[in-house]
Amino acid sequence: MSPWRIGDVTVTKIVEQEVNGGSRWLLPPGTPDWLLPHLDDGDACLRLSIHSFIVQTPARRIIVDTCLGNDKWKRPVDYWNNRQGPFLAALAAADCPVESVDTVVNTHLHIDHVGWNTVLRDHAWVPTFPRARYLISGAEYEYWRGHAAREDMRQMLADSVTPVVAAGQADLVEADHRVCDEVRLVPTPGHTAGHLSVRIVSRGEEALITGDFMHHPCQVAHPDFALTSDSDPAGGIRTRWEMFDRIADRPVLLLVSHFAGATAGYIVREGDGYRFAV
Ligand SMILES: [Zn+2]
Repeated sequence: MSPWRIGDVTVTKIVEQEVNGGSRWLLPPGTPDWLLPHLDDGDACLRLSIHSFIVQTPARRIIVDTCLGNDKWKRPVDYWNNRQGPFLAALAAADCPVESVDTVVNTHLHIDHVGWNTVLRDHAWVPTFPRARYLISGAEYEYWRGHAAREDMRQMLADSVTPVVAAGQADLVEADHRVCDEVRLVPTPGHTAGHLSVRIVSRGEEALITGDFMHHPCQVAHPDFALTSDSDPAGGIRTRWEMFDRIADRPVLLLVSHFAGATAGYIVREGDGYRFAV
């Protein structure tokens, strides 16, 4: 369990929210609407977590993904609006005050991965982490600027991304950007256009923070199981097969961005697919 140790690097999970449900995004496209009332939020069939990872290397303190945030509005889920959660207190309690963070990585620009990029101060959105560089995939940023047809996506850019760019703290990077000796970004497109994962290697040990190229253990057994919220479902399926093939039966610790509970495990080949070994 958290914190995990990968050579000289430690990774700590900070949970903002764990809920039952989320099947609205997880059920495959074409699932009849009449199924939803029985499977949607409140049903304990799925348990999803929204959390950040603090990646502490000998020289750097990196936060991967920033959850939902407080005070945000126009979110598509009721209880994601006007939140007043204790996330920053949880960070401080983990000995990670906002001033100590030097790098923020957004695996992609979805509402549940960028929220704490900013805080509301005197009616304006300002970067939460005053000393940090925010690493955002340039392809991802351009994609959403061009495709933000939905009001919630436009609002997400306006309150959680644009203020960071305006403050001069954003670095629009390639999806294979090298962050430091131990940490490198890995392109994993499909869920979104510029989606990326985070690879950690230290002293011969290895871990991978997935972001959202997978959401649920059932996608390990069935990599073809796409999400309703994938921008490019076929690309997401390709990414899952490629990534699982690359790390299966190897000691690569997978840290999954929405797995509740144990969160981390290994990919093991089984039959025509894989299984997730905690
Ligand atoms: Zn997500």
